Amino acid sequence: MTWKRPEGRRVRAIRERLRTMYGEPVNEPHRNPIAELIKTVLSQHTSDRNRDRSFAALRERFPEWEEIRDAPVAAVEEAIRPGGLARQKAPRIQSILEQLGEEPDLDWTETAPRQESLEFLLGLPGVGRKTAACVLIFTWGIPEIPVDVHVHRVGGRLGLFPPRASLERAHDEMLAVVDPADAYELHMNLIRHGRTLCRPKPRCEECALRRMCPWYRGLERGAKERDPR
Ligand code: SF4
Repeated sequence: MTWKRPEGRRVRAIRERLRTMYGEPVNEPHRNPIAELIKTVLSQHTSDRNRDRSFAALRERFPEWEEIRDAPVAAVEEAIRPGGLARQKAPRIQSILEQLGEEPDLDWTETAPRQESLEFLLGLPGVGRKTAACVLIFTWGIPEIPVDVHVHRVGGRLGLFPPRASLERAHDEMLAVVDPADAYELHMNLIRHGRTLCRPKPRCEECALRRMCPWYRGLERGAKERDPR
């Protein structure tokens, strides 16, 4: 089946169904871009709970960003150990902070052109498209749709981007079809849907999106071809 970029009407219908199922999440930008950046490094390969524990421990031990940057790496490692992979994450956090200036600062990303902020963030060690998008939307409310595994799986099944699109292509396609005002809501509700019904093994029979889901229609077609009665 060939993929066709969905029209705005269809994307809004998906947003509406998801809203009925999961409510309308409200973005409350926290205005701390460095914290967002460090948290996304800490969140790699661990749960949200462990990430938050590591972040709290790190901040308690080093209240200033400069202190984290200038501390012996072993001390940073020790502080973030509850989140796992401390040996990789500690030097990465320090090298990110080294690139944010003598007094680490990212507040300029609030008003800088989006492309300029993205390019800067993507140049930081270990920062990819998803992390950069998280910094912009969760810190400042700048419309972005971070594509994580859930958004990638659910969005692909719903035909929001081509099947097997790379994370980068998925990100670009989502930004092209989603109304900026809906970016946060769609991001959050696609994740919720991916965690509840549209799991790797989906529970389509319980899903209110069945009739607008190309993936489900493909399943039905396949079933009919196997058993045409
Ligand atoms: S119908 Fe199935 S595959 Fe489609 S969105 Fe719902 S759970 Fe996912």
